[in-house]
Amino acid sequence: MPEEVCDVCGSTNIKEIKCKLICQNCGTILRSCADLGAITPSIEVNRNGSPRY
Ligand SMILES: [Zn+2]
Repeated sequence: MPEEVCDVCGSTNIKEIKCKLICQNCGTILRSCADLGAITPSIEVNRNGSPRY
């Protein structure tokens, strides 16, 4: 995995906590679950078995 760099302060001291990438230097949340996950659950749910309207 390539080293992440904080967009705000330029630090590479970034930690992943509960699927969020947080800069340990300035506390900025760089990415959240939606950005990290390749899966798009909402679409899959709609395809596989959501109620029809
Ligand atoms: Zn930062």
